[in-house]
Amino acid sequence: MKYIDEFRDSGLAQKLAAAIKNEAQGARPAAQPFRFMEFCGGHTHAIFRFGLPDLLPPEIKMIHGPGCPVCVLPMAKIDAAIQLAQRYPLTLCTYGDMMRVPGGQRLSLLKAKAAGADVRMVLSPHDAVMLAKDNPSREVVFFAIGFETTTPPTAVIVKQAQALGLKNFSVFCNHVLTPPALKWLLEASAEGADGVPPSDGFVGPSHVSAIIGTRPYEIAATAYGKPVVITGFEPLDVLQAILMLVRQVKAGRAVVENEYARAVTAEGNVKAQALMAEVFDLRDTFEWRGLGWIPHSALKLKDAYGAFDAEKRFALEPSTAKENPACQCPAILRGAKSPEECKLFGTVCTPENPIGACMVSSEGGCAACYSYGRRKDE
Ligand code: SF4
Repeated sequence: MKYIDEFRDSGLAQKLAAAIKNEAQGARPAAQPFRFMEFCGGHTHAIFRFGLPDLLPPEIKMIHGPGCPVCVLPMAKIDAAIQLAQRYPLTLCTYGDMMRVPGGQRLSLLKAKAAGADVRMVLSPHDAVMLAKDNPSREVVFFAIGFETTTPPTAVIVKQAQALGLKNFSVFCNHVLTPPALKWLLEASAEGADGVPPSDGFVGPSHVSAIIGTRPYEIAATAYGKPVVITGFEPLDVLQAILMLVRQVKAGRAVVENEYARAVTAEGNVKAQALMAEVFDLRDTFEWRGLGWIPHSALKLKDAYGAFDAEKRFALEPSTAKENPACQCPAILRGAKSPEECKLFGTVCTPENPIGACMVSSEGGCAACYSYGRRKDE
């Protein structure tokens, strides 16, 4: 397959792994491997799916980061969406993964649906706005989540709803931003706070970077001395990025490099950025699962689009639910623990019976490790 097979060539993968080993071996004491965090859950899945841990030498340790859009949403937001669906006569639309994430009281949107709430899975936000258009007497709310990748489509449907003059459509906006979370990680890692391990550099997200470009990552290199290599999701992309990171660290360099030049530019998608700026404002602060409250790290609808803001249209009581204390998702999302360090991993908690968000999402670290990794029982 053109442009896929080329990036999955096993012979080239072996060569890249050998080059990484060559660069890394002897560069550091055995107890101090190169530690690189892949911010994006898509990379975590690529790493496990293509068996990269078996190819990488022990001198390289990959740390899984908070880049799973479903996982970083705190329980209070899941509970708010459940509350919307249960308390009001409305149709709540969201992406499939969100429906299975456990909220408080052992509920999820899927269980709320089974109990009678009108919750529907959509493949795109456009489906939600069309549902509202076709059912003018029914309130439809789109539960919007995700990083900069899924934000422009939400902006499009808000404008579309306005153009159609819809009175029965709104968005429960929970879009979050990558650069503030990266900055949080850089600071926590430098201070050793919250168990965040020191990191030698970052494998930068690919889809997010296609929107925001490479420039927003420069702060990691200039202010914190950490290299970032933006890379694609194929195994050769990831291996090449790791090689580039090792070379930078060995040379004492810290810059942003772009391995994914076939999709990412320095400026990113300027049209999408303008659309986001037109529809959304920054929130003063926003809670991330595992990372806590991060200033200016999420978006809300601008006042000009307030008629489509579900938070303005519906009253929501704050959730008092607490995370399951046995679930290590918060620690996993900040890179402080790996999925296998959770006692529930692969026993009580499986993709069929997820206890935490990281086992639900197609980009979650626990789901990746469970689906493609080697488990204790094997
Ligand atoms: S294995 Fe399950 S319970 Fe443990 S951290 Fe992952 S999602 Fe949470």
